[in-house]
Amino acid sequence: MNSEPDIVIIGAGAAGIGAARRLAETGLAVLVLEALPRLGGRAWTLHGAGAPLDMGCEWLHSGDRNPWTQIAEQSGFVVDRSSPAWESQYHNLGFSPAEREAASAEFDAWSERLAMNPPASDRAADALALDAKWTSYLQALSGYISGDELERISARDYAAYDTASSHCNWRLEAGYGTMITANFPARTDFSLATSVEAITLGRFVTVHTPAGDISARAVILTVSTNVLAGNAMALPSALDPWREVARFLPLGSNEKIFLEIIGDSPFVPESHLIGDPHDPTTASFNIRPYGRNVIGCFLGGAGARVAQAEGEAAAFDRAIGQLAALFGNDVRRCLRPLLASNWSRTPTIGGGYSHALPGFAPMRDVLARPFDNRIFFAGEATHKTDFSTAHGAYLSGLRAADEAISALIK
Ligand SMILES: Cc1cc2nc3c(=O)[nH]c(=O)nc-3n(C[C@H](O)[C@H](O)[C@H](O)COP(=O)(O)OP(=O)(O)OC[C@H]3O[C@@H](n4cnc5c(N)ncnc54)[C@H](O)[C@@H]3O)c2cc1C
Repeated sequence: MNSEPDIVIIGAGAAGIGAARRLAETGLAVLVLEALPRLGGRAWTLHGAGAPLDMGCEWLHSGDRNPWTQIAEQSGFVVDRSSPAWESQYHNLGFSPAEREAASAEFDAWSERLAMNPPASDRAADALALDAKWTSYLQALSGYISGDELERISARDYAAYDTASSHCNWRLEAGYGTMITANFPARTDFSLATSVEAITLGRFVTVHTPAGDISARAVILTVSTNVLAGNAMALPSALDPWREVARFLPLGSNEKIFLEIIGDSPFVPESHLIGDPHDPTTASFNIRPYGRNVIGCFLGGAGARVAQAEGEAAAFDRAIGQLAALFGNDVRRCLRPLLASNWSRTPTIGGGYSHALPGFAPMRDVLARPFDNRIFFAGEATHKTDFSTAHGAYLSGLRAADEAISALIK
């Protein structure tokens, strides 16, 4: 490990990898430090039941303008451009076409109000219709999209993402995490399982780790807002304003659990279900992607918090119970717990993805400001419109690297 690089990048998630890729084009000496024993951060593909399973990012949102699409194809990965099954409900189980139409109309009207006539309070919940009948469904969607309840979501922030999104969602059969980590630049120096405990400022920026101190001319800090706002890394008091701002852009709660399908089952490849549209904690079930014998259950907001509070075994039971309620009790015999994420309790991550609290959407720009031309901030939360995504994280890494390059190469 080089103890005197030009630039230290803290965090090897999509943002850190983006910054490393840009810096690899320069002659600057770069060292990437990652607390986890693997690359990727929230981009993490595991293998279960013979299939790659994305524990974090999975969909190339805004795929037609997502920089990872081109990187994937240039590095030999196949991008699957077929439309997701999200908007369908397999055999209308538990959610009739008329109900779906009414619920979607309420969601569309709410989204339009956020964009065209946002509430003065900036609370996304205040854009709900007075006679709203599908609030539980909208809360479940808010959990998936933003990781938290509508009362805690900034209307401006939500609308900024939604307006910029191309609503084109693609996939990678090999897994988004696999592709992102495969694109870590080959010759860049990095150290895994190396947690930065403190940063101090002197003539150089010193990064303190259990493996020793590193002095650099600049640091790119890509940790999540929950990590930044927490106490795990001691920062100079000059960075208190960044810590404060991070509190207004917290990570919501998002988790996934995977079930394995054993033997004959009624589950049809590439189908989808909302467990119970009247329950704001309901899972969204992604059934047999690519024909695999796996069901991915996506949880957001209250649903993810319940899963974390009750523990893994209860979360599996709950998911199997929801499927049994729709398909009949017999399906229990062909479903087995496989894998579960634990993002909220992973100390170096701390949740799902960022959303702005009401009134605080402009804080994304504030968080992205460099300090003293020596500490540069990246990470999904610093992107004004593509926050909460792997491509927003990547673009923020490019931006921070460009800022560092102009500061160091005069
Ligand atoms: C369940 C779930 C589903 C998702 N689905 C999608 C999706 O379908 N599409 C999409 O685009 N996005 C999705 N996302 C969001 C996407 O994964 C993230 O926005 C993106 O990966 C964040 O990248 P990042 O580099 O900003 O942060 P991170 O990935 O969090 O990277 C920061 C890194 O810093 C490291 N770190 C923290 N503290 C220290 C320290 N003290 N010292 C050294 N290193 C440290 C962390 O371990 C981490 O690896 C999902 C996320 C989750 C949780």
